[in-house]
Amino acid sequence: MINVTRSSMPPFEEYCDEIRELWNSHWLTNMGCKHRELEAELKRFLGCEELALFTNGHLALENVIEAFGLHGEIITTPFTFASTTHAIVRCGCTPVFCDIDPVTYTLNPEKLEALISEKTVAILPVHVYGNLCDVDRIGAIAQKHGLPVIYDAAHSFGVFRNGISSACFGDAAMFSFHATKVFNTVEGGAVCCHSGEVRQRLCDLKNFGIHDEENVPYVGGNAKMNEFCAAMGLCNLRHLEEEIKKRRLVTERYNKNLSGVAGLQLNARQEGVKPNYAYYPVVFDGFRLKRDEVFDRLKAEGIVPRKYFYPLTSAFACYRGRPGFSTAETPVAERVAANVLTLPMYADLPLETVDRICSLILE
Ligand SMILES: *Cc1c(COP(=O)(O)O)cnc(C)c1O
Repeated sequence: MINVTRSSMPPFEEYCDEIRELWNSHWLTNMGCKHRELEAELKRFLGCEELALFTNGHLALENVIEAFGLHGEIITTPFTFASTTHAIVRCGCTPVFCDIDPVTYTLNPEKLEALISEKTVAILPVHVYGNLCDVDRIGAIAQKHGLPVIYDAAHSFGVFRNGISSACFGDAAMFSFHATKVFNTVEGGAVCCHSGEVRQRLCDLKNFGIHDEENVPYVGGNAKMNEFCAAMGLCNLRHLEEEIKKRRLVTERYNKNLSGVAGLQLNARQEGVKPNYAYYPVVFDGFRLKRDEVFDRLKAEGIVPRKYFYPLTSAFACYRGRPGFSTAETPVAERVAANVLTLPMYADLPLETVDRICSLILE
């Protein structure tokens, strides 16, 4: 069976070497040496000023919303993973759904300003599939209205625009290091930001709100990354460039097979952007077969793509009947969600398998 993804792992011995120290120190979590080392390595790689590690991307997102003290409406996109919308709602805020751009699938800045009201407290766009949002226009609109921008950068680890990483755009960026992402720490996440004060608040929040032994200023939870996950991150980071290079070859092979085929919309390259080839989305728009037919046929052949992202988060059963959660308000997102399939994509996916997947689609 060919799954949509397969987790990257370092050589077994490399990981064993990395965790050996932990048997000496008996320090397994609570910001130990691996945690500190990974923070430093990631800061260097991403070129960001401040960074805080988390147990996963979702809690990183909830904690950053809390760290900014947000209460009110947050403008976001429904074309994303459940986590983005759930984080907003779980933090007591109200998501206001903005439609997406039909080419990049990210929040459409043309539709943004009309959604800003006196209740708006932040903008939370998503770098979907590793495609960068229009950070300049979103930034300009946010600045005009005095709103912070928090990016869900879960898909965009290792994406750079003119040498600047996706960690640096907006007031904060959240990354996920889940097993299925381009870079993983088994489970993990991070928030990058410009403010040392915000970082300190994040560090306090992820450790029960404890600032120091006698001072607990926040009602925090527990969202610390442990030493074994940090060690996995240190190993995987060493192989990241090589993994992205292999993903590029897979992407190019798909492109060679599928570009120019009528009824298929492939992911467009972005000017000045160094991509991470996180996903291979195809929108079936006017193709002989419907998206669901392609999905079923591939599955019958042991190939498992994903309807990623379908349904829109605004269509989830848990939000049924809530005002503002109608998918009709975001028609482009609705259309893409109904027609998109992400094809199998991982560094070690054999190119012959890519050819087989493509000929199954095209036959
Ligand atoms: C993976 C993902 C998350 C959540 O990250 P976890 O590390 O799995 O908690 C949030 N947003 C998006 C867009 C994601 O793909």
